Amino acid sequence: MTERLRLAIPNKGRLAEPAVKLLRDAGLEFDPHDRRLVAPVENLALDILFVRANDIVEFLADGVADVGITGVDLLAESDATLRTLRRLGFGHCALSVAVPDESTYRTVDELAGSRAATAHPNVARRYFAERGLDVDVIPLSGAVEVAPRLGLAEAIVDLVSTGSTLAMNGLRPIAEVLASEAVLVAGPAAEGRADEVAAIDLMLAAVLAARSSRYLMMNAPSAQLEILRSLLPALASPSVIPLANPDMIAIHSVVGADDVWRLLPSLRAAGASGILVLPIELMVG
Ligand code: AMP
Repeated sequence: MTERLRLAIPNKGRLAEPAVKLLRDAGLEFDPHDRRLVAPVENLALDILFVRANDIVEFLADGVADVGITGVDLLAESDATLRTLRRLGFGHCALSVAVPDESTYRTVDELAGSRAATAHPNVARRYFAERGLDVDVIPLSGAVEVAPRLGLAEAIVDLVSTGSTLAMNGLRPIAEVLASEAVLVAGPAAEGRADEVAAIDLMLAAVLAARSSRYLMMNAPSAQLEILRSLLPALASPSVIPLANPDMIAIHSVVGADDVWRLLPSLRAAGASGILVLPIELMVG
């Protein structure tokens, strides 16, 4: 019997909840609430391993898990070579260089000869070295943003999403080191299980595509078909369905979720009525 594929996801922190939501939206049935390390998926030969976000790369590199969900920043910090399969559209943040509001630093070049505290020492050292800057990188495991106040460092290299944590700590960003988001990655244990890994990747891709699309249905006078077609995305050929009234048709089309509010007024002006906007559960291109 082949072993069940193992997918490692964060058990807490910022990536945990959206990762579980992604798997649930894909239709996977499992119980993440009892805080066990492993949750077997009931409707697929897959075990979900709940581990600390920081440990996921290690689990993959060691072959304890086959695939995992982690942040681009954590991958970059590790020296393991893992295969990134897909960006997952959540956990967006930037690893940034920040300095105290009242400091005179404007650019990273001015940091030569100073100290920078960070929980990402490998990425930070590479960043400063690539710029030929002699910056003493001080590794910390947390609470990086208080380092300047404690006199530990003149700057920090830390993750920023809204910037409110920086602002609260009297810091301002001066440069972006790396843009990050959650990614699906495969480790060496996934070699030789290409079909199973591709199936997981396809499943998550189908959720992401569905989330960014809407199914649009409308009725319209048949004579308006060409003008309505010209308003709808060129790639998706809409379905045109005859109605009991021979002068009317129904048009169905998939459109980008972000385009809906731009499209609705022009569709109405072109004669569409009874317009329905429906969510899509899964979408495979
Ligand atoms: P956590 O477990 O909450 O410390 O976060 C783990 C991962 O969440 C980080 O390594 C990033 O990939 C991601 N993340 C997204 N936004 C942020 C943010 N504003 N601060 C820290 N981590 C973030």
